[in-house]
Amino acid sequence: MADIGIFDLCAFCPSLCMDRCPVVAATGSNTWTPQSKMMTGWLMVNGHRQMDALNAATIYQCTGCMSCHDVCLHEIDVEQALFGLRRKVVEAGACPWPSARFVDNGQDLQQIYVDSVPPDYVVPEASGVVFPGSGTLRTSPNLLKDLFECFGRLGVDTFAAVPSVADDSGYDLYAAGYIAEFREHAGHVAKKLRRYKAVMVVSPTDYYAFKVLYPMHDIKLPDQVIFAEEHLGKLALARQPGAKMTGRIAYHDSCITGRHLEIYDLPRRVIEHASGQPPIELRRHHQDSMCCGASGAWDIVNPKGSADAGANVARMACDAGANILVTSGCKCAANIGSKLHGLEVMDLITFIARSTAL
Ligand code: SF4
Ligand code: SF4
Repeated sequence: MADIGIFDLCAFCPSLCMDRCPVVAATGSNTWTPQSKMMTGWLMVNGHRQMDALNAATIYQCTGCMSCHDVCLHEIDVEQALFGLRRKVVEAGACPWPSARFVDNGQDLQQIYVDSVPPDYVVPEASGVVFPGSGTLRTSPNLLKDLFECFGRLGVDTFAAVPSVADDSGYDLYAAGYIAEFREHAGHVAKKLRRYKAVMVVSPTDYYAFKVLYPMHDIKLPDQVIFAEEHLGKLALARQPGAKMTGRIAYHDSCITGRHLEIYDLPRRVIEHASGQPPIELRRHHQDSMCCGASGAWDIVNPKGSADAGANVARMACDAGANILVTSGCKCAANIGSKLHGLEVMDLITFIARSTAL
């Protein structure tokens, strides 16, 4: 639980970080500014407002993007404060949504995994395993085909598709404040993965969960947990490019890969290596990047707002003159979508697959 004293600082702040918040930009709601959410927290923790479902719903209107943190003179970590408050809300039985809404471990995930991967890579056992995560399997099963095509071209031969590991990392349970449920679920996932020497993780959110959240909760994974984009990106840079990728290519820093994992340069170098040009920068980029709305469990509690936040990023890419937008994370790519005419949005893995095929 974050120190609740920090709610005081926000409660009396003239909302200086409001323009950073993707929730405000997508919904136009002035009750969902960082300051208003923290004020609601201040009122609840000081007993001036009931900790009930109505008030609690306000503090779930946050993607955990950390964008407000970077402009705050007090360096308030609103994400951790609100996520900590969500834990209190869950403990008080006031969360408007049951825990089951925040985890997707459906039986059909295994079949989607099998159907998405070239048959040669599907094996019952292996020393290294690809963890696609439920978000990838639901939103972007084609990404797995791209990933395994990259394996063939870049000489990766130690990772296979093992259907039994198809699961949810539990990130959304953590983000929603269901910590006991997160620990239990993560324990099951880790037990399955500990049978392997190495795990390659497809989604940045799952990678963040494995590298940061699991250790925070003493949940042990294999020593080698590898982020697919980083691994394939480095291999792509070491390879002599064939024909150049064409198009006006921009890059969007997703919040997890950027502000949380601090990976900014590698994707840009991969794009430049493949196209001969540095990517076009959006109006907001690097640490200042605009969240696409697909994190912090906000896509679950407010799918319309989340989709509108994705459309805002797509508009920003069009305004910058791009016709291809590369981002990190298939959930982000899917949420930004191709809603605007003339803009193609893709995950970095798909970009690597396309560029290495030339
Ligand atoms: S995070 Fe900082 S800038 Fe934003 S409302 Fe709180 S005190 Fe103000
Ligand atoms: S962390 Fe992001 S979504 Fe949450 S209040 Fe701050 S800017 Fe808004």
